[in-house]
Amino acid sequence: MPHRSRHDAPLAEIAKEAQRAIAQGGITFQKFTCKKCGKRQTMDVPNTFYREGQCEECGHITNLEKACGFTAIMTGGNQEVMDIIRKAVSDAAHGTAPFGTAPKPTPKDVQ
Ligand SMILES: [Zn+2]
Repeated sequence: MPHRSRHDAPLAEIAKEAQRAIAQGGITFQKFTCKKCGKRQTMDVPNTFYREGQCEECGHITNLEKACGFTAIMTGGNQEVMDIIRKAVSDAAHGTAPFGTAPKPTPKDVQ
C-alpha cells in the first residue's frame, strides 16, 4: 500500500490536503514535530486534525496551527482494507492493542 507524506505546512493547508486524500480513499494521520525536543509525533486518531499536540517523549504541547504535516495510507478505495486499518487504529486508540503510543492531543477537532 502506498504511503504518502509531505512536509509541514500550516494546519489549514494540511487539513485541505488531507481532505483531498480522504476523498480518494485515503486514511490520514496528522504528524508534527515537537517544538521542544524535536521528536516527530503521529496522532493515533485517523482523519482528525488538531490545533495542538502533546509530545509523548517530553510532554511539551506544540501549537500546530502554523506547522504540521500528515501521512496518508492510500487504500485505493478498497473497503475491506479500509475496515482493517480503521479497526486496527481504533483498537490501538483504545489501548487493546500491543502498540498505540501516540501522543494525547487536546481534542480541538478542526474538521
Ligand atoms: Zn517533545
